[in-house]
Amino acid sequence: MQPVIDIHTHAFPDEIAAFAMPKLAAEADLTPALDGTLGALLRSMDAAGIARSVLLSIATKPSQFDAIMEWSRAIRSDRIEPFPSVHPADPLARERLSMIAAEFRGVKLHPYYQDFQLDEERLFPLYKRCADLGLILLCHTGYDIAFPRDPRATPERILRVVERVPDLRLITSHFGAWDDWAAVRKHLLGRPISMDVSYSFEFPDPDNHLDDILARHPPEYILFGSDSPWGDQRQTIERIRERVADPAARAAILGGNAARLLDADSSPVAT
Ligand SMILES: [Zn+2]
Repeated sequence: MQPVIDIHTHAFPDEIAAFAMPKLAAEADLTPALDGTLGALLRSMDAAGIARSVLLSIATKPSQFDAIMEWSRAIRSDRIEPFPSVHPADPLARERLSMIAAEFRGVKLHPYYQDFQLDEERLFPLYKRCADLGLILLCHTGYDIAFPRDPRATPERILRVVERVPDLRLITSHFGAWDDWAAVRKHLLGRPISMDVSYSFEFPDPDNHLDDILARHPPEYILFGSDSPWGDQRQTIERIRERVADPAARAAILGGNAARLLDADSSPVAT
């Protein structure tokens, strides 16, 4: 059986989780499924039958790079695949991407916490570097529950990025663009653009956007992600199992696609 892989999780060092989780939860006005520690994530994976989780960090300031790299090295295991982060305002951002690629499979960017527009000019050298390195970029896309509704990572902007950097190994999050699913259906559906399903089933969807995307987007471009500790890993798997009847598509979404991305020889070019 195809091992289940969660492509979108977060955790923090224990001492940071203790103060960061209540603060983040209050900012977004939501109740997390877990306490944000690595131990809780591993227990949740065991309970849900998840073999591996990609653990995403976000550098909210350029100065956090080294600490994130250190934590990512410390927690890496056969169960945990860390994606570190660089801040786009870091003058050394491109070099840091090369440092990440020397040790890890991917990197995380977040347009709200890192204050950028997805398709602004200064980001393209970073996208090109990721593409050249074969580094997976998992980028938050769509709106963000913790921020004002500012269209900085819309489906239209995603298209501009992938048109200019077609080799970029991009995974968009939250069904392509969180809470902008009508635009996902209009602009992204059917295109070779990977999207995770994280933290979306939790919200009202009266127009059945999510079911439509699941039914019509190519299953090889859909990945199970929970956004744990915000989303619940086991519940997200259940939502996929309820909605995806075809066994091959279901296996691909729950782990096959992630395994292909994470374990492929991406043949990074020298830097
Ligand atoms: Zn997330």
